[in-house]
Amino acid sequence: MTTSTTTKSVPFHVPSIGEEAIRAVTETLESGWITTGPKTRCFEEAFARFIGVRHALAVSSCTAALHLSLDAARLSEGAEVLVPTLTFAATAEVVAYFKAKPVLVDVDPLHFNLSLEDARRKITPKTRAIIPVHFGGHPCLMDSILDLAATSGLTVIEDAAHAIPAKYRGQNIGTLSPMTAFSFYATKTLTTGEGGMVTTNDDSLANRVSLMRLHGMSRDAWKRYTAEGTWRYEITEAGYKYNLTDPQAALGLVQLSNCEEMWRRRVEIAQKYDSALMSLEAYGSPQVAQDVQHAWHLYVVLVEPFALRIHRDQVIEELRQRGIGTSVHFIPLHLHPYYQRTWGYRLGEFPVAEDYFDRCISLPIYPSMTDEDINHVIEALQDISIKFRR
Ligand SMILES: *Cc1c(COP(=O)(O)O)cnc(C)c1O
Repeated sequence: MTTSTTTKSVPFHVPSIGEEAIRAVTETLESGWITTGPKTRCFEEAFARFIGVRHALAVSSCTAALHLSLDAARLSEGAEVLVPTLTFAATAEVVAYFKAKPVLVDVDPLHFNLSLEDARRKITPKTRAIIPVHFGGHPCLMDSILDLAATSGLTVIEDAAHAIPAKYRGQNIGTLSPMTAFSFYATKTLTTGEGGMVTTNDDSLANRVSLMRLHGMSRDAWKRYTAEGTWRYEITEAGYKYNLTDPQAALGLVQLSNCEEMWRRRVEIAQKYDSALMSLEAYGSPQVAQDVQHAWHLYVVLVEPFALRIHRDQVIEELRQRGIGTSVHFIPLHLHPYYQRTWGYRLGEFPVAEDYFDRCISLPIYPSMTDEDINHVIEALQDISIKFRR
């Protein structure tokens, strides 16, 4: 049971970009539309249809989607927004863009989504919004979140960066809240390299996002005065430069058409991991609630210190030596210097997220993994669990 000498390697992530995607992007480049144009419109329509929502607004990233959503919610300086501490930088930094306060919330010990009890405790008269994150692709308990938001007067903006395709009680994520933000970053389950989307059923929120994503420029205003108005526009707000481009949208359209199939393969991989881990005391495996569809963006195992005498960091190193790429999602926000310095957060304040962070490892899970790749990861985990058994 010494370190394997095999050269086999399983990277943490490989995006699924096939011939079809390469052809679609090439054709778009040849079409001459290389910024926002007909393909972007087409991608928005296809995405809205896929999710089952009235509006889908393509933007340059999920970070932009979250920023525009908070703008549409009219977040103001000094307001407070509830955000789980266990998330990526983007979810909370957008709050700070408004000189508002990201109020961090601990997570629940089962699915590691925002804890409702902790969220409730942290509501003050200044709280305006809540940004639940569907961590790893496991939907949050949206009924309870929407109830809490309704009784406390909060706007819900879902961070669905991990949640394509995910469902809560049979309903697609992206249809439940006033606004939902999606990510098409390189490692996400649907990618355009960089990109994002805001979904909403509300016409006025959609109009605001649409206006602000491209310089606050309105063509509609001029339609009042001119029959055609092809070159006229009016700047009605100081907006942003957050548009998606047509080559990205072309890639997105192909990804969307393969989304279900890619998801099915991730489900298979998760099932293979699940059944292998059942007999290994050294690692806890992800729990899935009834009545949800997990997107399986991440498959996170938790190292069990009672069964394994090495720390998570060393397990990652042992996996690396066996050619297996892993990652850690995420270092809780309250442990970062910005949050400690600016908002006074400290180690010890979020015990569930901290315990999780101390033990979590994200394993490779992506459609192009072969059964051999999956077995390689499983065998490495078994090997490590025997070698370092307590
Ligand atoms: C990736 C990610 C984002 C940001 O997505 P971008 O498209 O890179 O801006 C936001 N929230 C979470 C939870 C993420 O994992």
